[in-house]
Amino acid sequence: MSENLVVAAPQRGIKVRKINLSRKVAVCPRCGTVGKRHSIGHRRLREVGISSPTILEVIYSKHFCSTCRRHFSLPMDHLALPSGRFTNRVRRTAVDLVNKQDLTLEKATFQMRQKYHVHVPPTTLHDWVVAEMKI
Ligand SMILES: [Zn+2]
Repeated sequence: MSENLVVAAPQRGIKVRKINLSRKVAVCPRCGTVGKRHSIGHRRLREVGISSPTILEVIYSKHFCSTCRRHFSLPMDHLALPSGRFTNRVRRTAVDLVNKQDLTLEKATFQMRQKYHVHVPPTTLHDWVVAEMKI
């Protein structure tokens, strides 16, 4: 199991911040049964960087519910959208540049790279802004 935790050496100049959400047991979101941990997963998210590109490396546990007979992972909605590659902070910051500061998608992308060292493609940013309007 431990070899699964070894991660590639970070590229030069990139900061890696680690956050460990792993727990031995967790409550099944469907039925409330306590499920034991059966494995560890990790996920890398692009984070807002103050002085250099920053990666948030999240270690989380995967659990098995013996009642539902299904696997589940600890929720991490507070960090990122499911299957998203960026943290909520990146999304929030970029969307605010468009919605609150009236920047174009291209200018917002440029500013994210200049100021926060994270590249958000304009198409991705567009999707975020559209999703925001539906809420
Ligand atoms: Zn369950």
